[in-house]
Amino acid sequence: MANSKFEYVKNFEQPDNLLPNTWIVVRIDGRGFTKFSNKYGFEKPNDRRALDLMNAAARAVMSELPEITIAYGISDEYSFVFHKSCALFERRSNKLVTTIVSTFTAYYIHLWSTYFPDTPLSPPLPSFDGRAVCYPSVQNLRDYMSWRQVDCHINNLYNTTFWALIQQGDMGALEAEEMLKGTYAAHKNEILFSRFSINYNNEPEIYKKGSVVFRDYELVDPGTHNAATEADNLAEPVLHSKNQTENDKKHRAKARIVIEHLDIIKDEFWDRRPWLLS
Ligand code: ATP
Ligand code: ATP
Ligand code: MG
Ligand code: MG
Ligand code: MG
Ligand code: MG
Ligand code: MG
Repeated sequence: MANSKFEYVKNFEQPDNLLPNTWIVVRIDGRGFTKFSNKYGFEKPNDRRALDLMNAAARAVMSELPEITIAYGISDEYSFVFHKSCALFERRSNKLVTTIVSTFTAYYIHLWSTYFPDTPLSPPLPSFDGRAVCYPSVQNLRDYMSWRQVDCHINNLYNTTFWALIQQGDMGALEAEEMLKGTYAAHKNEILFSRFSINYNNEPEIYKKGSVVFRDYELVDPGTHNAATEADNLAEPVLHSKNQTENDKKHRAKARIVIEHLDIIKDEFWDRRPWLLS
């Protein structure tokens, strides 16, 4: 035991354990990515390579932290959801946020050359900020996820129209901005269709819906009750002494991590994957 007269300074540390039994969301966001995306010539409004890189880094974070239930990414941000029973780092906020941020950033840089083979990184290197927020109910958590996906939709419709006006309509940025001021979604859809023959519905799902990352078990048919959990219980020998949490952990660690571009606002996504929120 290292004891010294200096050790009292440890008492200046503030506890930061997050509220028990709540869903923890850690959201990270790229620092100054408007500038960063210009520096590396991201295609506007959506650079597919950049999104694939974000998704690859998020997948790596998920596989290093089996406690993460689901993640959702758009643009330069990613939200990672820890199950409400999560006990990692005694739920200490700083530990959770900094581990996610540094693991994500490390992989983003490590994987950069796979997605941008012709444009090597140079300082200032990409970095991310992060925060943790607790949501006490499944409804609150679902509303959080819906909030982010609505944001994705609103931003993408705006950006798609804005950049069409500039790239295909020969407008300047100010002119395009002026034209879109105060317009509703229907109006933007109309501009896209009538001026540029773009049917917004046919835009790639990854741009319209963002990316959902989760562990894949067997899908549950709509209307049946918790079939995945029941099947799991049956598959486990009755005499087995290991507790369910241990089994769940192993099961989770083994499950394939998938990235999809689905609607997470409607019930269907969650109803078909009851293990995510149970
Ligand atoms: P801050 O540091 O406050 O987050 P920021 O410049 O990163 O500042 P954001 O609101 O996070 O601001 O916006 C992210 C920026 O990165 C936007 O300008 C967006 O266009 C750009 N961006 C992120 N991902 C992509 C992508 N895949 N393709 C094109 N542009 C992207
Ligand atoms: P935690 O995740 O809780 O921080 P940890 O294994 O990182 O766990 P630390 O208390 O941070 O635990 O200790 C750092 C460990 O890394 C020690 O075991 C230390 O010996 C080792 N270590 C760090 N830097 C060096 C170094 N330069 N040379 C040799 N060993 C090192
Ligand atoms: Mg920000
Ligand atoms: Mg940003
Ligand atoms: Mg952002
Ligand atoms: Mg350490
Ligand atoms: Mg240490």
